[in-house]
Amino acid sequence: ARVDNPYAGAGVYVNPEWAAKAAAEPGGAKVAGQPTGVWLDRIAAINGTGGSMGLRGHLDTALRQAAGRPLVVQLVIYNLPGRDCAALASNGELGPTEIDAYKTRYIDPIAAVLADPKYASLRIVTTVEIDSLPNLVTNTGGRATATPQCDAMLANGNYVKGVGYALNKLGAVPNVYNYVDAGHHGWIGWDDNFGASARLLHQAATAEGSTVDKVHGFITNTANYSALKEENFALGDSVAGRSVRESKWVDWNRYADELSFAQAFRQEAVRAGFRPDVGMLIDTSRNGWGGSARPAGPGPRTSVDAYVDAGRYDRRLHVGNWCNQAGAGLGERPRTAPATGVDAYVWMKPPGESDGSSSAVPNDEGKGFDRMCDPSYEGNPRNNYHRSGALPDAPLSGHWFPAQFRELLKNAHPAV
Ligand code: BGC
Repeated sequence: ARVDNPYAGAGVYVNPEWAAKAAAEPGGAKVAGQPTGVWLDRIAAINGTGGSMGLRGHLDTALRQAAGRPLVVQLVIYNLPGRDCAALASNGELGPTEIDAYKTRYIDPIAAVLADPKYASLRIVTTVEIDSLPNLVTNTGGRATATPQCDAMLANGNYVKGVGYALNKLGAVPNVYNYVDAGHHGWIGWDDNFGASARLLHQAATAEGSTVDKVHGFITNTANYSALKEENFALGDSVAGRSVRESKWVDWNRYADELSFAQAFRQEAVRAGFRPDVGMLIDTSRNGWGGSARPAGPGPRTSVDAYVDAGRYDRRLHVGNWCNQAGAGLGERPRTAPATGVDAYVWMKPPGESDGSSSAVPNDEGKGFDRMCDPSYEGNPRNNYHRSGALPDAPLSGHWFPAQFRELLKNAHPAV
């Protein structure tokens, strides 16, 4: 039987491959023992690509790390047909119509490994399909942010079917805990997107034979940079006669940070039909925003923009920026039950792995070049035409990016 919070009373698997990369960087040994997510980002990752460990290798190592005690293993299920429809950096190997390959060559083999009785003692957390369903809400139809690729995935239904299939198959394994990706506050925190996202997640969770009983919870902020708690301003504050919600940074969002968003999304999901005991995970791998640029207190009360901009921890040029953000730092270390409704803070995105290359790089991983990863790019409707804020000289998404890792370490908050 599943426990309410799989992280309670359990260790969490340390991926030795990530640990070795982290430990090889100056100062990296201080965080190399932290648990990070294992991304199954293509079919070949199930057996291991280019000499790296496959799924069984990780699970066998996890059994050794567990040494008879409860241990959580964190997997990222990330290979939908037409993946990453509003961006190019993490386009995947499956074309928009390849739902059958997703089912039979990706999800079924993963489910078969996870169902091996040998692994029955592990608590397997599967975070399901990052950045997919929210794209169907925000980047489709008549909106300025729409892309033809997201319109196609909405029309063909393959994100909804793929997520439903994955939840149903993986969730049939008694020691698997499914957490569905729910974007982050700077994406679906607006009224137009919030309830609609919860309802779409419910639609997916009840597609392809799945039911809400197959959903243990949701993860927010995966591989994103949204601050956990903004403490120098509150959405109820008014400055010079104007609400903080009117500031350019907040732009009428209902949430200013990830913790308040995650807690509210949990309740919205329950309203949409999910089980009342669902729990949240928040990816805090890169949302620390510490270091010398971290504001020490609230901004001046001269205008609402001055107040918010000088006080906010999140130093991005726009909350829609997502690629290799300059100035970011490691966030809260992974920990269990840190706040009401939150099962754990986790490092699902392995810090130091790139979000995308800053110029085009030929590859056989299906990865494109997204100009949101190019520091000279001047933006698009999804970041309201701001500069990308990306670090220069980045490798392909998922590849080790030493300069970013070093900056994350330097700007960690809490400091390491
Ligand atoms: C990439 C994946 C990678 C993951 C974790 C994603 O952006 O597309 O290939 O495994 O990040 O670093």
